[in-house]
Amino acid sequence: MSDKVDNSQLSAQPQLGAALSAFSCVDGMLCIGGKTPAQISAMLDAEVFYAYDREALQCKVQRLRHMLPATVKLHYAVKANPYGPVVRQMASLVDGMDVASRRELLLALQSGMPASHISFAGPGKTDSELAAAIAAGCVVHLESATEMRRLQRLCLTANTTAQVALRINPEFELKGSGMKMAGGAKAFGIDQSQVFALLDEVQQGPLQLIGFHLYCGSQNLHADAILQSQRQSLQLLTQLRPLCPDLRFFNLGGGFGVPYFPADKPLDLDAVGAGMHGLLNEFAATIAGLEIVLELGRYLVADAGVYLSRVIDIKTSHGSTFVVTNGGLHHHLANSGNFGQVVRRNYPVLLANKLNQPVAGPLQVVGPLCTPLDVLADKVLLPEPDIGDWFAVLQSGAYGASASPQGFLSHGAVAEILL
Ligand SMILES: *Cc1c(COP(=O)(O)O)cnc(C)c1O
Repeated sequence: MSDKVDNSQLSAQPQLGAALSAFSCVDGMLCIGGKTPAQISAMLDAEVFYAYDREALQCKVQRLRHMLPATVKLHYAVKANPYGPVVRQMASLVDGMDVASRRELLLALQSGMPASHISFAGPGKTDSELAAAIAAGCVVHLESATEMRRLQRLCLTANTTAQVALRINPEFELKGSGMKMAGGAKAFGIDQSQVFALLDEVQQGPLQLIGFHLYCGSQNLHADAILQSQRQSLQLLTQLRPLCPDLRFFNLGGGFGVPYFPADKPLDLDAVGAGMHGLLNEFAATIAGLEIVLELGRYLVADAGVYLSRVIDIKTSHGSTFVVTNGGLHHHLANSGNFGQVVRRNYPVLLANKLNQPVAGPLQVVGPLCTPLDVLADKVLLPEPDIGDWFAVLQSGAYGASASPQGFLSHGAVAEILL
């Protein structure tokens, strides 16, 4: 669609072209699932909302499957976007789901995903959540020796068994991740140095050890770093496999990142795919008969979502033009730069009804909240704004509505729709 978008807009925001590729443009108007912002607004009776594109979700998974070895199983991490219709759509596209709370477990089950393809991880599972996992029959990813013993006791009480995986905190880390979740002192998983000593205990019923899980980090855009941690993970598996007769799967984690910001280079999926083909051949003996799992969140859903809000006011202050919208950090914390980012940078943004217009002067786009943190875009080059314009934040399909403080300032919850 980029031929219909004004070139000055594309050059002002280097990451815009790729972010727009999932959507269509009709008469300068951004369309999500074939609908204009005004049409979606009429459907929802809302002037600020997240819209997700069903076809974009489908294309993303298809392209990924095309590049990866055919034997690799894809899991969706529900945390990235737990909106019911999105979870149901993902259930039809992926092989399994990863959940980390009772609500996420129920969402995954109700999406139609079989319990045996759902894994329940997370460092603070209560007895009540473990009991729910046992009752549902999903795979429990154990994050500590204590949790393993609690689950054993619960199984004995319920006179049942449970299939489990051990989440390992390996000695190595995933370099260049936005968030590191392994290597060194971490709340996640069981230290590699402690895992071997637990193998006898975990394999004495009522638990059945069927997998291992490593998750080293998120938001990584470096193919070689991802492949290196996969290689190190497979080397560790070589030592573990002979000690675990019932093993069925090995979860390599994920970490595939999204190019949100101007300087970000997209993850080279060709390189990841080729590298994984090579690794799985090299370690063929180690993984024979095992399912190899990748668990991805944002990579699968970020591109498919747009956060749309409306321009309420425009004013100048000390020479800067401020565009005030009815959307802000209460709905989209990550876009404001307050969800784990060290330095605030702009997401790809648009005036969704002015795609074919050239850029004018730089704008400060802010939300309605009484805090200087409520920034939607800082010094961004957009067309001349008008009150009533639709302001769109792209790459917003992950860590949006559910990862934002929707109660803050009491404006009310944001609407969502899958089209
Ligand atoms: C958060 C998380 C994911 C998903 O992370 P993304 O960056 O969205 O891909 C997957 N697995 C585990 C264990 C997680 O904690």
